Amino acid sequence: MTTALLTHPDCLNHLTPEGHPERVARLEALLPRLEGKDLLRVRAPLAADDDLLLAHPQDHLDAIKAAEPERGIRQLDPDTWMSPGSLQAALRAAGGAVRAVDMVLSGEADNAFVACRPPGHHAETRAPMGFCLFGTVAIAAKHALERHGLERVAIVDFDVHHGNGTQDLVQSDGRILFVSTHQMPLYPGTGAPSETGPAGTVLNIALDEGTTGEVYRHILTDTILPRLRAFRPELLILSAGFDAHANDPLAGISLETADFAFVTEELCRLAAEVCEGRVVSCLEGGYDLDALAESGEAHVDALIAAAR
Ligand SMILES: [Zn+2]
Repeated sequence: MTTALLTHPDCLNHLTPEGHPERVARLEALLPRLEGKDLLRVRAPLAADDDLLLAHPQDHLDAIKAAEPERGIRQLDPDTWMSPGSLQAALRAAGGAVRAVDMVLSGEADNAFVACRPPGHHAETRAPMGFCLFGTVAIAAKHALERHGLERVAIVDFDVHHGNGTQDLVQSDGRILFVSTHQMPLYPGTGAPSETGPAGTVLNIALDEGTTGEVYRHILTDTILPRLRAFRPELLILSAGFDAHANDPLAGISLETADFAFVTEELCRLAAEVCEGRVVSCLEGGYDLDALAESGEAHVDALIAAAR
């Protein structure tokens, strides 16, 4: 009965400018909190081009590879930067997610947490965006479908920002249910409830600024869990952002650490009911270092408890 933790020191080599919220210190705050826990520790492998091509066209790979500077830091869009080492870090994040799917589907682990950066859920089919270079969870979902022969995969994105990139990458594939909860209005501006996707497999839940944990818990139990239960996924992938925490500087939702534990417990319980507990969780946002560390630890503790 095992929870796997996939990470790699290369993820500390993706540098952003002074004052940028998506910074090396995030992993340096979170990873020590996971030391000493009952986790199967795995070094995240590099994603291969074939993995990335599950979700992106070749020209996007070529553009990202060409964009990495030899020195200094290069700006790709108002929020997204690359340094020497960024490509390697992003390949660890995507490769870690792919390997986590392999581990959970083979029974090597019951569930898994991929603690890598940069995050991925804003990267669109042909565009890096919002700190993200590759659509990590979309790649993981496609990997499960195309290479493991699964028929249905669900992604739940509880990062406070809309997972526009994941939606872009998966919405035309009716085998993937994509659920995102996010503050609106807020960056990136997409994610209205009317966006249900061409296959009807997108569920966007817009949260008002100030939404409390109590309200969020009701949304989870009354709306999200029934939709997941009806879809009957064979694997549940989480875009685990912790920036809906009350202390996060980038948003105004009022979740507390205990709410992240509750959300994880409920999603794991649902997974136990419909897909033998198979959960792969990938770190997305979370920009208050203490809130990220505490909430991320609570998330992992709940994964460990569910694997017992
Ligand atoms: Zn976010």
